[in-house]
Amino acid sequence: MQGFYSKLESPSSSPTHSSSLVADPVSKEGVALAEEAEKARALLRTFSSASLAASAGLAVFCVVADVAVASLTHSVAGRQHLWARAALDNAAHGVIGFWAWAIVVGLRRRSDLQEALLAGGVASMLDLDHFYAAGSLSLQAALSLPRRPPLHCSTLLAASCLALRLIMAALRLKDAWRALPWLVFVAGATHHARDGARRGLWLWPLGHTPPLPYWLYVGATATLPPLCALLMHLTGAQHAARAARHGVAIDV
Ligand SMILES: [Zn+2]
Repeated sequence: MQGFYSKLESPSSSPTHSSSLVADPVSKEGVALAEEAEKARALLRTFSSASLAASAGLAVFCVVADVAVASLTHSVAGRQHLWARAALDNAAHGVIGFWAWAIVVGLRRRSDLQEALLAGGVASMLDLDHFYAAGSLSLQAALSLPRRPPLHCSTLLAASCLALRLIMAALRLKDAWRALPWLVFVAGATHHARDGARRGLWLWPLGHTPPLPYWLYVGATATLPPLCALLMHLTGAQHAARAARHGVAIDV
């Protein structure tokens, strides 16, 4: 057997390149085999010991972050410096979003790190809607809202991610972007789950749930990344995005 490295062409690739693969049944079969092998490897990576350890580590971080925020909240410094408490709490959202997406993609390449940083940014920036709803840059006003701000509506988050997925399909954007709705969902869901442990989930138009049990918040946050990765594999989003970015090794 002779090994070589070939860029896997996605369905959205140019017709010129695709036709060369279709015309050659050996190449077509090789690409199909490589695609199946890559899917199997990706699935094994999702449930590898490293991935499961990272999920357990994420659960531990959630608890440590909440203990740190609670300690600062009840300290003299924390009572005096509202911004410090808010910054620490928001940083925890960002790290959890980063960590969760890092588990989904595996952090093997620079582009994986960039995606994880984007997820952390999304998870962190969701809280900017507090200032939008308050109509002020005052932190006191932002934290004293009579109702939850719009980006904290969980049904809106799910509907937005679905709409983003449909828009991207309609516009036939590159496969490399197919993971974006999933990224936004994971980042947003980790934020909502953490807030939900304190205030419940806002499921408009159904209303609010009671505060989530703490074990449920931590368990859901740690379980979401591998579950999301599995769903992405099943729908082909993970493989398409990875193949579009990095190509697939073919050994025939
Ligand atoms: Zn929030």
